[in-house]
Order: sequence, then structure tokens, then C-alpha cells
Amino acid sequence: MIEVQPVVYPFWYPLLTATSRQGRPISLLFPEGVSPEAGTIDMLIMAAFHGDEPESAWVLEAFLNRVSARELGAKRVGIIPVANPDGLFLKTRQTSTGVDMNRNFPTQDWASLGQGTPYFSGSAPASEPETQFIVHVLSVYPPQAIMSLHTPYRVINYDGPAEALAQKMSEINGYEVVADIGYPTPGSFGTYTGKERDIPTLTLELPEKEAFTENELQSNLAALLHCIL
Ligand SMILES: [Zn+2]
Repeated sequence: MIEVQPVVYPFWYPLLTATSRQGRPISLLFPEGVSPEAGTIDMLIMAAFHGDEPESAWVLEAFLNRVSARELGAKRVGIIPVANPDGLFLKTRQTSTGVDMNRNFPTQDWASLGQGTPYFSGSAPASEPETQFIVHVLSVYPPQAIMSLHTPYRVINYDGPAEALAQKMSEINGYEVVADIGYPTPGSFGTYTGKERDIPTLTLELPEKEAFTENELQSNLAALLHCIL
């Protein structure tokens, strides 16, 4: 077990925390000066679900360094800046145990699939502490809407009643809105939240590597803010 101190952001405080399998902190951050009322929060945003998609974490890092409660109009926004810290450290899609979190959610269609591949769903639904943390966050602070950041397709995918929110995001970043990713994803986060719980859920697929320019960063920061406000 290693011990890593959580990153501290000027305008945000940790509301809930957990520890990854290898001992790295995972936090739900909330804007300083804003209290979540019992029950729901307005928006949950998360990144680095897949550890080999660091661009997603860079966007939320920039967001957390620049945006304060005042700019959010007192909206109750929860941010999980790095959902899979071991994967981010190891530069792997999966968690340190080789599980794809996006197949590990306790959905009705969860099945043990893909062992030894990058899409391994785990030995049981929500077998991973990283998945358990998100399930816990959703039960304690169920959000009105969710934005989950990935790479590399440069599209906005949505689950549940989120088409209007997807279009709102597209107005700012210009990405195409796609209703369905085109292949089955049992145990996926979008199925758990959007399809089974009716929470509007956006998957923002950012460009990666050289295509992830400063312009892309800025337009996506603006797109996130536009969707919150
Ligand atoms: Zn991804």
C-alpha cells in the first residue's frame, strides 16, 4: 500500500473520499461555501475513468483551478477529478487489477466477460473499490445530471433523458451528438445511471494527444460551464 496525498484545489473541498486498491485517494469535491442539501446535487462531473485517457483529467484539473462557487452561480456541482487513479498512474485503461470500470457497474445486464482483455468486467458487479466509490456517491448525492469525460472520439454520447443537455454542450464545443455508441456495453456507467436510473448522462469524448490543443481545452471548459449554468 502506498500513501499519496490528495491534490488540493483553491476553491474546492472534499465531500467524500475513498482509497483506490493501490492506496491512492479518490475524492468527490464540492465548491467552497456551498453545502449539498440532503439528497440531490445539480451536476456530477468525473474524469479519468480510463487511466489511459489523461486529457480528461487535464480538463477537470483546469476547471478546478479556475472555477469557483461564484462563477457556478451557487450550483451544487460535485467533481471526481480522477475516478481511476491507479490506472492514470499506470497509464492503463483498467484499474490496477485489470478491470474496466465501464463494465464493472452493478447493472441488470452485468456479466463476467472479457477476462484478460482491456474490457474485463471483473469477478463480480462493483468488485472494484473505485466502482464502489461512484456507486456510493450516487446513492448519497444523487445528481440531476452527469458528465463523464473520456477520449478520443470528439463526440458527445448520451444515456437517459440527456439529448437537450448534449445539444447544449455541442453548441459550445461543436462536437457531434451521438445517441448510442453502437455496440453493447454491459455493466457500463451510462447503463447504470442513464438507462436504469433515468439520470441524464453525457459522455464527452475529447480528442487525445496532438489533437488535444489549447483551443480544445478552452472550448470544453466553456462547454462544461454552459451545461452547468
Ligand atoms: Zn474511456
